[in-house]
Amino acid sequence: METRVLDGNALGGVLLELFGVELTAAPCTCGSCGNRAELARLDVYLDCPGVVVRCHHCDQVLITIVRGPERSWVDLSGMRCLEQ
Ligand SMILES: [Zn+2]
Repeated sequence: METRVLDGNALGGVLLELFGVELTAAPCTCGSCGNRAELARLDVYLDCPGVVVRCHHCDQVLITIVRGPERSWVDLSGMRCLEQ
């Protein structure tokens, strides 16, 4: 099965629902290579058990989002910084 890779704009609705603000234009810094890019420019994998967001430069996992029926789990440990 081919893996679909979308850009960070695919995250917009999920992030807005979770955090209540539009974050696709927010720059983040990769915790591995230090690359700084807007969330809209990251690679998003939706065909996973959850959502996985990777650095477009080095492929480091920056964000994982797992959604359950009553709550969500967001792991941001792969990124060094998110600016808003
Ligand atoms: Zn990186």
